[in-house]
Amino acid sequence: MLIVMQHGAAPAEIQRVVETIEALGYQARPIPGAQRTAIGLVGNDGRVDATRLAALGGVKEIIHVTQPYKQVSREWKPEATVVEVAGGPRIGGGEVVVIAGPCSVETERQIIEAAHLVREHGATLLRGGAFKPRTSPYAFQGLGEPGLRLLARAREETGLPIVTEALDSETVGLVAEYADVIQIGARNMQNFPLLKKVGRCGKPVLLKRGMAATITELLLSAEYLLAEGNHDVILCERGIRGFDPSTRNVFDLSAIPVVKELSHLPIVADPSHGTGRRSKVPPMARAAVAAGADGLLVEVHPQPDRALSDGEQSLFPEQFAQMMRDIAAVAEAVGRKIAEPLGAVGR
Ligand code: PEP
Ligand code: MN
Repeated sequence: MLIVMQHGAAPAEIQRVVETIEALGYQARPIPGAQRTAIGLVGNDGRVDATRLAALGGVKEIIHVTQPYKQVSREWKPEATVVEVAGGPRIGGGEVVVIAGPCSVETERQIIEAAHLVREHGATLLRGGAFKPRTSPYAFQGLGEPGLRLLARAREETGLPIVTEALDSETVGLVAEYADVIQIGARNMQNFPLLKKVGRCGKPVLLKRGMAATITELLLSAEYLLAEGNHDVILCERGIRGFDPSTRNVFDLSAIPVVKELSHLPIVADPSHGTGRRSKVPPMARAAVAAGADGLLVEVHPQPDRALSDGEQSLFPEQFAQMMRDIAAVAEAVGRKIAEPLGAVGR
């Protein structure tokens, strides 16, 4: 429930609404906005007596948020959220942000080389997993903390902020020490204890859609993060399970405009996991930009044929360079722009 205040409502009137909400046993979240000040009532169990709030001084109207998710909805906050990442990138502000790098951090040489190459071709953030969720327990599981240290070195060398995955509640604190954005993978989208912990970690979060999750479920998972006080949430469409093995997943491009309508949170597209085949990544990257994605998450490897994970969907450096040129043309055609790397240092 949202209590919208009249334009120019006095601070004391706003305070009175907050106190009334708290006296009723709920939490109050004032949301100052350019157009209006609203106060969100969190924890509504359907028993709130709206007439008590409507009668208070300075209250213009009461809005009942109809969606099961509240704070992530457009009803709650009409303006788009812009997530500001340490080091400069802004995700959700209109420009297309490219997050690129290998699936996994493998060696110092590999991640440093990957960081230089993606930066050279215009990526704004570096991705790479140190803790990897692998389907087989015998597959490469990631380097763990040494991998995080290598990512930090790559950031030092290139100035690119890093996006890396937190796999469990035990290591999320460690990952948060190194990451600029914490990724929650598809397999963990509904790991609620992990979401609660990440919601309190103080770092922006990139939340991937589960492989069999509806958009409502994705938004409810994001709600866990906002409910813990973390509003810097970036959603990610990475494909859902289908029946056709022609591609690894069914890349749900329509999720982008659907999410944009339902939520104020930014959404990026991951055509690498979405398709699973490198030849399909550039066309779907172009399509995602045209569809309004706030950014792309793309796997790129200096030597994809030697990659320890997801080599078949990782772009060769030259393919990435071509993809960047092509998405710039698509962006221009739809009145958009690819974000420039900020504060990057030279090789
Ligand atoms: C990844 O980004 O490498 C990854 C494991 O992604 P997902 O969780 O979408 O499978
Ligand atoms: Mn991967």
